[in-house]
Amino acid sequence: TGGIALHNLQKRYGSATAVDDVSLSVSPGEFISLLGPSGSGKTTTLMMVAGFELPDSGRVLLDDRDITRLPPHRRELGVIFQNYALFPHMTVAENVAYPLRMRRVAKAEVEARVRRVLDQVHLGALASRRPHQMSGGQQQRVAIARALVFDPPVLLLDEPLGALDKKLREHLRGEIKTLHKEVGKTMIYVTHDQDEALAMSDRVAVMHEGRIRQVSAPQELYRRP
Ligand code: ADP
Ligand code: ADP
Repeated sequence: TGGIALHNLQKRYGSATAVDDVSLSVSPGEFISLLGPSGSGKTTTLMMVAGFELPDSGRVLLDDRDITRLPPHRRELGVIFQNYALFPHMTVAENVAYPLRMRRVAKAEVEARVRRVLDQVHLGALASRRPHQMSGGQQQRVAIARALVFDPPVLLLDEPLGALDKKLREHLRGEIKTLHKEVGKTMIYVTHDQDEALAMSDRVAVMHEGRIRQVSAPQELYRRP
């Protein structure tokens, strides 16, 4: 499970076309990047997969099921944003437990799952801290843990390292890559950073002015015919 198919997605804001006839198939377990400059339609595309935006036309399929009009919380997709979006008044453990609470998972199971996923992202020792007591990299790990905790088959990441300094970016890049290998989830990763896309992805979809111009393995990306 975890296959995604986008069919002819179209999204306009007023008279401007943000996403123009985007089609893409992502295999279960694949790590694919949407790479392109600011304004090229990457986030809008991802938000239509997540369900935070509705396309004007086109379809989103998850494992052959049409989820185009399903609300976000019913899509079983983990979403990670650039600005972490943690709840400031909650501890790390409470933040991570939140999606399970919303799904009314039993308390003992919540504890076990929160502990396991915090260990996975190397935050086992910081479960009782609050977000403001942590570094940016640690906060982003909490956001990753929160997206992983209900075990969705797909993770959507929107410039997750964008707010971090260069050294930390490179470190977390490696961690996300390792995580991908360990958990085997499908990952769709939005970035404007070419190095990042090339280093992390199985395939890169290059976006420009709302369209996908090319989809290739990293080593094929700039090879001329
Ligand atoms: P990217 O993620 O590649 O930076 P976006 O998907 O955010 O690109 O934006 C694509 C285009 O759609 C841009 O021209 C942007 O200004 C426009 N856009 C995105 N979201 C909105 C919105 N909520 N209202 C109006 N225009 C938007
Ligand atoms: P509180 O004790 O007020 O519930 P906590 O931050 O200690 O606040 O815990 C919030 C939830 O997260 C708890 O209900 C528990 O299920 C889980 N939790 C708390 N601490 C841990 C921990 N160290 N490891 C795993 N899960 C934890």
